[in-house]
Amino acid sequence: MNADRSVAYFSMEIAVDPAMPTYSGGLGILAGDTVRAAADLKVPMVAVTLLHRKGYFYQALDASGWQTEAPVDWVVEDFLQELEPRVTVTVSGRPVQLRAWRYAVQGVKGFSVPVLFLDADLPENTPEDRTLTHWLYGGDLTYRLSQEVVLGFGGVRMLRALGHETLERFHMNEGHASLLTLELLDERLRQAGRDTATPEDVDAVRHLCVFTTHTPVPAGHDRFPCELANTVVGHRALAELADACQFEEQLNLTYLALNLSHYVNGVAKRHGEVSQHLFASYVIDSITNGVHAGTWVCPPMAGVFDRHVPGWREESYSLRYALGIPPEELWAAHEQAKRALIEQVNRETNAGLDRDFCTIGFARRATAYKRPQLVFSDPERLRAIAAAVGPVQFVFAGKAHPRDQEGKQAIQRIFQMDAALRPAVRVAYLPNYDMTLGRRMVAGCDLWLNTPRPPMEASGTSGMKAAMNGVPSLSILDGWWLEGCIEGVTGWAIGQDGRSGAPVDDAKDAGSLYDKLEKVVLPMYYKDRGAFLEIMRHAVALNGSFFNTHRMLQQYVVKAYFD
Ligand SMILES: *Cc1c(COP(=O)(O)O)cnc(C)c1O
Repeated sequence: MNADRSVAYFSMEIAVDPAMPTYSGGLGILAGDTVRAAADLKVPMVAVTLLHRKGYFYQALDASGWQTEAPVDWVVEDFLQELEPRVTVTVSGRPVQLRAWRYAVQGVKGFSVPVLFLDADLPENTPEDRTLTHWLYGGDLTYRLSQEVVLGFGGVRMLRALGHETLERFHMNEGHASLLTLELLDERLRQAGRDTATPEDVDAVRHLCVFTTHTPVPAGHDRFPCELANTVVGHRALAELADACQFEEQLNLTYLALNLSHYVNGVAKRHGEVSQHLFASYVIDSITNGVHAGTWVCPPMAGVFDRHVPGWREESYSLRYALGIPPEELWAAHEQAKRALIEQVNRETNAGLDRDFCTIGFARRATAYKRPQLVFSDPERLRAIAAAVGPVQFVFAGKAHPRDQEGKQAIQRIFQMDAALRPAVRVAYLPNYDMTLGRRMVAGCDLWLNTPRPPMEASGTSGMKAAMNGVPSLSILDGWWLEGCIEGVTGWAIGQDGRSGAPVDDAKDAGSLYDKLEKVVLPMYYKDRGAFLEIMRHAVALNGSFFNTHRMLQQYVVKAYFD
């Protein structure tokens, strides 16, 4: 049974179905797109994550634009199949029983990749332990580390209980999964009947493991105080591997993964370089992220591709041939997607958006380094540009982490910009950003905006989704856009390539953003539709054909899985 899988993909969040709240944002979407690509390409993968019975959270915005959070209710049995085996992990000295639920992700040629959702909500467990797989990124440090024990130790044990004996690679999507290395080490020792690991044991585990790091921010890497780690994980391997996890003062899960993986990568070329600098004594490669074309291309555009780009669902490289699409067909499909978005925005927010106005989209986690308010830093200038060149309307979406007060304030300020800027500039903030809303937005806007503070954007993927739908980006040169931007061909850059090391200057970046809108993008949009359509076609042909998970996964196969 299950003798055919060779890659186990571990991620704290995976977005497999828009109606299942098992993800919070980019990391989970990437994991889902990876699994969907594996199913299309028949890569023998099995994925492991946690169930998240209460989800991340449901976001509502009150009349002032202030975010409130509620648990997400969903009926697990409606989506997932319960599997028989039970496994036990030890959390803070207590045995915790786990079961798994299965979701089968179907590829275009009928191959399927199972995703296992681990669940601790069983009557055998204490009431407290039953909640361990309830909340994605909820709770305190103890809760977080306990979840990581469930994912790492529990995940490997569940795979074995299900008969997966032929796994050759364990891919850790971010450091949350890195405790799996300790279980793999333990397996070896148990098989050999030994108590202590030799350097050969560690090498053997290293050969099995692959690690992808996702954040260039040192504080973004999971660390736990020593005492907490000893209490919660309480594992003899922790002491043995003290060096590997930098376990002197704290348990650093990034170092654990770095030390016990034979291949490590960042998620875009620049992010690989930044990570190499951050972790200088390791070799860090890069594989630039992608998105899954079949998932993110909107139905009207998919119809155009079906007519003019045969094979695009089976092989995303085919999008290269989008240069042959008649511009009027591209525009007609875009208008249909735009109409659907504007109708939804007007229905939900009463913003009175106009189908003929240039519509700019911005959707991502509301957090300081993403600078969601940059485009509103000089409201007078923005109003003057719209009055002189043509009206502009914005569609925003994105959640702030429940404890991120600054993020919530940013949402509220953007929400309130509408009243301040009407009528030449209109602003709508849609609540509860998720996969379904994301799909609508990346296809229905005319321009996709991203203004992170470099070098904080490891990759970013929503602009890739927009490109596949023929929507060009206007973005800061960071993450994937350093690779995807050909000025005036696939979209436009804000500011300079930050490699010079000059400090980030918000006012300067805002000035560059306004200049581009005023002098280049809006005049082209309103007065030279033919030129704008050329950019739209090149966004699909040059960026859609490359920034997809078919290309990305094939790089993982060659460089990390079957090397
Ligand atoms: C694509 C996507 C993200 C990630 O977008 P970034 O550009 O990487 O920030 C987050 N949330 C949802 C719902 C998405 O669809």
